[in-house]
Amino acid sequence: MWYDTVELYSGFSMSARIKEEYLSERIYSDRSKYFDLLEFPTHFEIETINACNARCPMCTINEWNKEEKMMSEILFNKIVDELSEYSSTIKRVNLYRDGEPLLDLKLEQRIKLLKSKKIKEIAISTNCSLLTESRSKELLESGLDMITMSIDSLDKSTYEAIRVNLNFEKSINNVKNFLRIRNELGSNCKVWIRMIRQKSNIDEFDQYEKYWLETGLLNTSLDRVYYHNIFNWGGQLNGFDGISENTEKLLPCVALWSLMPIFANGDVPMCNVDFNCNHKMGNLFESSIKEIWTSRKFSDARDSHMNSRKSDYQMCVNCNVWEEVPPKGATTTVSSQYARLLTPLPTSS
Ligand code: SF4
Repeated sequence: MWYDTVELYSGFSMSARIKEEYLSERIYSDRSKYFDLLEFPTHFEIETINACNARCPMCTINEWNKEEKMMSEILFNKIVDELSEYSSTIKRVNLYRDGEPLLDLKLEQRIKLLKSKKIKEIAISTNCSLLTESRSKELLESGLDMITMSIDSLDKSTYEAIRVNLNFEKSINNVKNFLRIRNELGSNCKVWIRMIRQKSNIDEFDQYEKYWLETGLLNTSLDRVYYHNIFNWGGQLNGFDGISENTEKLLPCVALWSLMPIFANGDVPMCNVDFNCNHKMGNLFESSIKEIWTSRKFSDARDSHMNSRKSDYQMCVNCNVWEEVPPKGATTTVSSQYARLLTPLPTSS
C-alpha cells in the first residue's frame, strides 16, 4: 500500500493521503505524482475570444461581465513563452474558455505558434456552426490535435431548442465534412463528439452513439462519442435543472490541481466555473503563470478542499462540473472508488 501503517491509524493523515492519491491518479494516472501537480498546471484553457454566436440555456453568457473581448498578441505571446518552458509536462492547451473559439480569426496562427514550441496537445471545443470546409482544412493544417464538437441531439427541434441561434443541418454537415477532410488529409486530430445530456435529450444517447459510429467516418482508435451531464456552474446557472447527483462532495476538486483558465484580459480565475472572476488568482500582465499557480491564493483554495472546507468558497459547495461519468460499459469511476474510502462509517446506536 502506498501509505504506511502508522498513517492508517491516523484518520486525518489517511484521508489526506487518499485525496492526494486520488488527485494524482485522476490527473496523471499515476498515484505517486502528487507533488508534481503543485509545480505547474498540466492543463490550460486560454480564452482568446469571449464572444459566442449561440445562446444556449446551459451557458452563463447572459451573466458575463467581461470587457476585453479579444486577447492581444502581446499577452498571447507572453503566455506562449512561459508555456514553452514546460512543454514536456503540459498535457493539453485548450484554446477556448467561455465562448466560441472559431470567432477568433487568428486561431490557426495561434495553434501554429504553440505547435512550434512543442506543446503536445492543442485542443478546441466548438459548437460547429462556423466549421466550414475551408476552416476545417486550415485548422487541421495548423496542427490542431483535438476537437470537441458539441452536438446535443439528432432531433432538429431538440437541437435547436438547446443550441439557440444555430441550424441543425448545417452543424451536422460541418461535423461530417470535418471528419471526411481529416481522414483525407491523414491527420491524427482526435474528434470527440459530445452531447450535453439534460432533460430534453436524456434518453437519446444510445441512438446518438450508434448514428455516429454508423457514419463510417470515425477512427475508433482516435475518436470518441460521449456525453457530459448538464452542470450547475457552481450554483451560478439561473434555472439549472439537473439530472445527476454530485457524487464527489467529499473529494477535492481536480481543477485546483490541474487547470489554469486564462481570460482575454490576462485575469486568472480560480477555475473554469468562475466566469466573472469572482475569485481572481492573479493577472498575467503582472505575474507569471508559475507565480500565480504557486501563490498563497491557490494554496488557500487547495487547503480548503483538502481539509473538507469546500464551503469556504460558495461556488464549490454543490459544484458538479468535474464529476466523472463512467466509461462505456463500466459502472465505477476513479472518483467513486476514492469517494467510497472517504465516506464516514455509520455510527452504531
Ligand atoms: S468545485 Fe470549486 S474549484 Fe472546482 S470547478 Fe467547482 S467551483 Fe471551481
